[in-house]
Amino acid sequence: MSTSERVRHPSPYETLALFIDGQWKTDAREGEEVFDPATEHAIGWLPHADDADVSAALAAAQRAFAQWRDTSAYERSRVLRRFGERVLETAADIAVNVVRDQGKPLDEALAEVRFAADHIFWHAEECRRIYGREIPSRDVRVQQRVVREPVGVCVAFTPWNFPFSQAVRKVCAALGAGCTLVLKGPEEAPSAVVALARALQEAGLPDGCLNLLWGRPPVLSARLIADDVVRKVSFTGSVDVGKQLAALAGRHMKRSTMELGGHAPVLVFADADIDACARALAVQKLRNAGQVCISPTRFYVERPAYVRFVDVFTEAMRSTRVGVGDEFGVQMGPLCHARRVHAMQSLVDDALAQGATLATGGTRLRERGHFYAPTVLCGDVSRARVMREEPFGPLAAVVPFDSVDGVIEAANALPFGLASYVFTRSAAHAQHTARRLKAGMVSVNHFGLALPETPFGGLHDSGYGSEGGSETFDGYLATRFITQFESLP
Ligand code: NAD
Repeated sequence: MSTSERVRHPSPYETLALFIDGQWKTDAREGEEVFDPATEHAIGWLPHADDADVSAALAAAQRAFAQWRDTSAYERSRVLRRFGERVLETAADIAVNVVRDQGKPLDEALAEVRFAADHIFWHAEECRRIYGREIPSRDVRVQQRVVREPVGVCVAFTPWNFPFSQAVRKVCAALGAGCTLVLKGPEEAPSAVVALARALQEAGLPDGCLNLLWGRPPVLSARLIADDVVRKVSFTGSVDVGKQLAALAGRHMKRSTMELGGHAPVLVFADADIDACARALAVQKLRNAGQVCISPTRFYVERPAYVRFVDVFTEAMRSTRVGVGDEFGVQMGPLCHARRVHAMQSLVDDALAQGATLATGGTRLRERGHFYAPTVLCGDVSRARVMREEPFGPLAAVVPFDSVDGVIEAANALPFGLASYVFTRSAAHAQHTARRLKAGMVSVNHFGLALPETPFGGLHDSGYGSEGGSETFDGYLATRFITQFESLP
């Protein structure tokens, strides 16, 4: 690490560890290095779990479940509240480390951590409202009750793009419902998940309720999902991996929640405020360097506004300041790892070969670090792979449209169905498109997704199950029916 970088990072990078039954373990024999995506320098060493660690984590989660399931909702709520307070107290340290291993700008990292605290506080409140119900019986001497109980030990696999907040969502929902958890975080950006486990321990979470493992993802997921102790699987990540894990969960009759990729269409009608809309969409597009599952990715602009939109959007993308995440004024950092840079270049090369026009970008930046220029493709893009494959990077393809039915058909043509966006002043267009777009979430005239109190989830290849909103605990609860006659016959 160079002197200037050391000055930028006066505090040491997170000590990475396994966390099993309340004990931190750093002495594993195997592991891997963690790299700073801005410099490609190694910044930490991540220990991997061996089979004995996996068994110990599952046994601890099972033992802890016997206690935690009977801990009152009031007490579970108190633990979550203390967790949220601890997160806010340590937000700056967590965020600095997210910049180091994930790469996003410091402001975004801080916003991620603080917003995650908002999720924690909301789950702390909502877990006190997990109600059952009484069903009127056909005989006055019979009482019929429906109870909702925690399913048991859960396993969760969380991604590198929002390493803190994505893990927080799963952890809060599982613990709030009364389940215990074995969590495998993202090996690419592990510091935030270690900080999460420490904050929960400091908040008084009993040993074994949360266990943290690292390792080779396919090996760990196959081992964990197949284990008899596990009752529920939750995954956020790519469609391909999600399908593999869902199939594995199905083979072992485990419930699952799958938050997978998308390819969000944006419909911009000519009656919208085109300049404001183009600038706002550029900011959204480049948030987290485009590595966001609900990032706007396929831009359909009504033909009369197309040229103006491309001009303003391209200028906003081009003038975005790209750099190391904790440098002053940086608006977009590097991509998280080299795979994404290669994916960007491959999509751009393909689009140009298919006849698209490059409005800006199209190349990596700097000799070191996974930097890629904000990129706009326009013109004849319709045959390009980028219109079918989620870019998951700072790449936008903009095409014109001529009819409402035509654009809805184009937007719905892919197997994904996560987020979609519409910009229009017409109430009729807004209502019609919101009803017809095949997506788990539709946001009209703003970007209003992923709040703690609103459900987040997709349709079709984008997965199933919701995180957030009053649906948040559904995947972690089993419904049971109890019927009781007032006396022995
Ligand atoms: P990738 O397919 O190489 O890896 C995706 C992630 O899945 C990695 O973190 C990897 O460790 C993990 N993984 C791979 N095989 C696994 C297995 N068998 N069990 C458990 N985990 C496994 O892709 P990438 O370049 O790292 O990420 C880009 C893709 O990932 C995008 O297409 C995007 O859709 C998806 N993604 C989605 C989200 C989301 O929020 N839905 C978040 C991150 C990544």
